[in-house]
Amino acid sequence: MPNPLYDTLFAPLTDRDSPFLLLADGAQITGAEFARMVAQFGNALRALGLMPGDRLAAQIEKSPQALALYGAAVAVGVVYLPLNPAYTADEIGYFTQDSGARVLLADPIRADALAPVAKQTGAQLLTLDAAGQGSFATLAADQPTQLIPASRSDDDLAALLYTSGTTGRSKGAMLTQKNLLSNAQVLAREWQFNADDVLLHMLPIFHTHGLFVASNTVLLTGGAMLFLPSFSPAEALRLMPLATTMMGVPTFYTRLLDDAQLTRDAVAHMRLFVSGSAPLLAETHTAFETRTGHRVLERYGMTETNMNSSNPYAGARRAGTVGLPLAGVEIIITDPNSGEKLPQGTPGMIEVRGPNVFQGYWQMPDKTAAELRDNGFFITGDIGVIDDQGYLSIVGRQKDLVITGGLNVYPKEVEELLDALPGVRETAVIGVPHPDFGEAVVAIVVPEPTQGPALDPDAMMAQIRDKIARFKQPKAILLREALPRNTMGKVQKAALRAELGALFTPN
Ligand code: AMP
Repeated sequence: MPNPLYDTLFAPLTDRDSPFLLLADGAQITGAEFARMVAQFGNALRALGLMPGDRLAAQIEKSPQALALYGAAVAVGVVYLPLNPAYTADEIGYFTQDSGARVLLADPIRADALAPVAKQTGAQLLTLDAAGQGSFATLAADQPTQLIPASRSDDDLAALLYTSGTTGRSKGAMLTQKNLLSNAQVLAREWQFNADDVLLHMLPIFHTHGLFVASNTVLLTGGAMLFLPSFSPAEALRLMPLATTMMGVPTFYTRLLDDAQLTRDAVAHMRLFVSGSAPLLAETHTAFETRTGHRVLERYGMTETNMNSSNPYAGARRAGTVGLPLAGVEIIITDPNSGEKLPQGTPGMIEVRGPNVFQGYWQMPDKTAAELRDNGFFITGDIGVIDDQGYLSIVGRQKDLVITGGLNVYPKEVEELLDALPGVRETAVIGVPHPDFGEAVVAIVVPEPTQGPALDPDAMMAQIRDKIARFKQPKAILLREALPRNTMGKVQKAALRAELGALFTPN
């Protein structure tokens, strides 16, 4: 019986005696061992009464077992709902309730905190820890090591990933087998993955980047992964001689650059570095190339759409851009108000259509209708511009747009100017309520951690005065040691806006 995602990604592991996962301590898990784990976990899910189409929520630490759980869900047709270990019991309550998950899998240390959630939502609570122990593991140990996969079609749901929305309720993006498989296929081709590749995997696997972009691409092409619980520059540098590729968020690259051990020799075995999930500063791109000789390949995607665009593997990788649409993916730029298509070179809303685009938000028909057009284009909420070579650059999220005195300011334009000043490491520009202007442009600047002269906001202001229109110039420049970021390296502008909300309008 067909199950396209299982047949393509997981079934080939069954007869593979070579290592599939290489762990930090040198231990290895062969393809066949992993496939047996997938089978036992899949049989355990069936033993719990889960049927194709049911949802499985899992708030567990990253481990080979956690990856096998995803494979098991695919095998038995259960919709996989991975959850960030950082979520509170209240948040897990929302996801479990909203998704109607019938099973909630948690780390044993969270079991007490989550017991009330399970009781309220009627989900069965089982445990699995990072070492592969817990009540679910015990149940799985008694299951057969072979499994007959559930019959699934392209349009059946494979996963429900909740967006990390900072405003309003988090929404469950419904991803089908075809959404995931088509994206793995196009990425593997585009980035030339093959069975000899060893991917340094240090991303979390509750998110589209680590779970789908990284793992599915390797699974599809028969390579191996150095599977680490989290990122550390020292571990990355220790393991790079065993790896050929790495996928990371921009902070991986800035932190690697902070380490003097990052040299051409250290990356001699690597063929590809990919970055995404947040903007990679052009400066980071250049610094990485100067130090290592590698041009980081930046790509762009999101939970709802998987990956949309990528800099070319063989062609020009342009710093500060997210490259060209992937094969089969259409990208257009539209007027955020009218929805009309805009001419090339004009910034506007990025809309995306293709086999990668999700089916809608779980049980939120209004939100789905507002963001997914009848003609199949998804309104991403990202503002971007396409240049005359077809390269897409992201200017910012629409919700981060600053409207000051009735005029629009795209934060990225101001951020880039400030970033280019000597002694500036990075910048976040936000809009803060202002009695005269509605919103005022405010820049939060992180200085380089050097011994040089301290940054002077007034002097910085003077340096950009002639470069951008007055209404775009910050009304305040604040210095900070670091910007608040989430686990995917995204700057939390909502947190900055909340913190600085009363800057010009004190109570
Ligand atoms: P998520 O759904 O958590 O993957 O977040 C998706 C969002 O991350 C996108 O809508 C973009 O705003 C942002 N993003 C992803 N990749 C990039 C990139 N290469 N450059 C800039 N922003 C990015």
